[in-house]
Amino acid sequence: MSETVRVDLGTRSYDILVGDGILARAGGRIADITRGRAPIVVTDDHVAQHHLPTLERTLRDAGLDAGTPIILPAGEKTKDFAHLERLMDAVLGRGIERSAVLIALGGGVIGDITGFAAAIALRGIDFIQVPTTLLSQVDSSVGGKTGINTRHGKNLVGAFHQPRLVVADTATLDSLPKREVLAGYAEVAKYGLIRLPDFWDWLEANGARVVEGDSAARRHAVKVSCEAKAAIVGVDERESGDRALLNLGHTFGHALEAATGYGSRLLHGEAVAIGMVLAFDLSVRLGLCPGQDAVRARRHLEAVGLPTKPTDVPGVEWDVDELIAAMAKDKKVKDGRITFVLARGIGQAFTQRDVDPEAVRALMEEAVSK
Ligand code: NAD
Repeated sequence: MSETVRVDLGTRSYDILVGDGILARAGGRIADITRGRAPIVVTDDHVAQHHLPTLERTLRDAGLDAGTPIILPAGEKTKDFAHLERLMDAVLGRGIERSAVLIALGGGVIGDITGFAAAIALRGIDFIQVPTTLLSQVDSSVGGKTGINTRHGKNLVGAFHQPRLVVADTATLDSLPKREVLAGYAEVAKYGLIRLPDFWDWLEANGARVVEGDSAARRHAVKVSCEAKAAIVGVDERESGDRALLNLGHTFGHALEAATGYGSRLLHGEAVAIGMVLAFDLSVRLGLCPGQDAVRARRHLEAVGLPTKPTDVPGVEWDVDELIAAMAKDKKVKDGRITFVLARGIGQAFTQRDVDPEAVRALMEEAVSK
């Protein structure tokens, strides 16, 4: 069964298809977008082993010969200038025209770099997202943020470029390592914490099923998350307002990731889980949120198996000054002031610019010592 979530952006609107096993039948929808021309598939060497044959088969069934796929190394390090150059070279080397279409088959890394390549190749060609991680199905494949990392920080070079179609096949998650599933779950939970209290209740009851691989639970979680993201992107494509709420936990999270070197010690979603708990704790500390809501947030994330405090990350000596300096470098900083996403309770997030720096410091001092 496949369900469709529409991202409403005028002429740039597109469908997100969500379902179990839908990749094997997606060729027709892809052919509609490529107008019968062969797309160029970009993937990574992990995903290629698991899901490339299914994509190639459905493309062939739809009469599309995708030729040789472009296979990049798996991992965050691929999102850099060197791999972008390699990717652009491979794409342009095929003598493409403006009608060319790229397909990003993989997680957020492949989606982000392929989307950016599509944004800049011939000043913009179409691309399709086939996300294969929970994180990319519920977050990065939707909304058109594309880009790469630089030595100055993550995602600092990029473009808004919407895909033409997203195919979120929840069956692809069956091959995803549990730790990656959990990291993606943090972004699912985020939607509940931001603005969907009923969904949060559902997650408290069913989150374990999502993590363990129950197909109906996964489909529901991905669909609701995509609806939530589509609704936010539909009113604020370029993050001048509501879209900033999606950064719940990210200011803290990015600082924790920076301190751990963006590696496997702390995955992005894990950092977001800790960051969301810190955002709720800060909200309580500032007298904005009932303590019991912060406890609920922490308990559920903990119960599914996510880290919820910096000291859950093994082998790291946290330095509060370094963390605060990293927060101040976040790209959401405006006029030198950090915008925090805080909450009045579960499902009631809002942004706040003038947070008392002393309260943030006190929170961090406590967080790294417990
Ligand atoms: P990822 O793309 O690195 O994938 C994680 C790992 O899982 C990789 O090793 C990958 O090869 C492997 N993998 C992917 N699908 C698999 C499958 N089905 N079976 C087995 N292995 C599989 O990481 P991610 O967590 O998907 O994405 C993280 C990236 O997304 C970061 O770079 C982050 O900045 C970006 N991001 C972007 C946005 C956005 O709006 N564009 C939003 C959130 C995050």
